Order: sequence, then C-alpha cells, then structure tokens
Amino acid sequence: MSVKEFVSDDWVIKIDHDKCTGAADCVDVCPSDVFIIKDNKSFADNVDDCIECCACVSACPTEAIFHDSC
Ligand code: SF4
Ligand code: SF4
Repeated sequence: MSVKEFVSDDWVIKIDHDKCTGAADCVDVCPSDVFIIKDNKSFADNVDDCIECCACVSACPTEAIFHDSC
C-alpha cells in the first residue's frame, strides 16, 4: 500500500497511490489548486492552501483521498 501524507498545521490529506488513477478529478474540483498530477498520481503539494471544502473527497472516483476534516 502506497499512501502519501501531506501535512499542514491544521489538517492532513492522504492519497492512496494504489487507488489513484491520475484522472485528475481532484485537480478539477479543488478551488485552491491544492493538487498536482505527477507521473499519473495526485500529490497535495499545496496542502497549506486547503479551505476544507471536502470537494476532493467527494469527487475522487476511487475513494483514494482521505482528509481528516472531511
Ligand atoms: S480524483 Fe482520486 S483518482 Fe483522480 S487523480 Fe485525484 S486522487 Fe487520483
Ligand atoms: S478539501 Fe477542498 S480545498 Fe481542500 S484539498 Fe480538497 S478540494 Fe481542495
């Protein structure tokens, strides 16, 4: 299992790269441009910019995203 963790002062986003297909729904729905795709996998590199809207968790078709506020 390959779960990447992205930690800010107030929340944690985890992305399971075994489930991530790189289809970028998270990129499309995130209002804060938190995610980028590298090598067909999503990375929450801008985790500090998150506004905790939870759209990414709902949009991911493979349930690859965990957000501890959502
Ligand atoms: S929406 Fe889910 S499967 Fe698609 S790129 Fe983002 S994390 Fe990966
Ligand atoms: S919770 Fe909202 S703002 Fe935060 S990463 Fe997900 S879509 Fe972007």
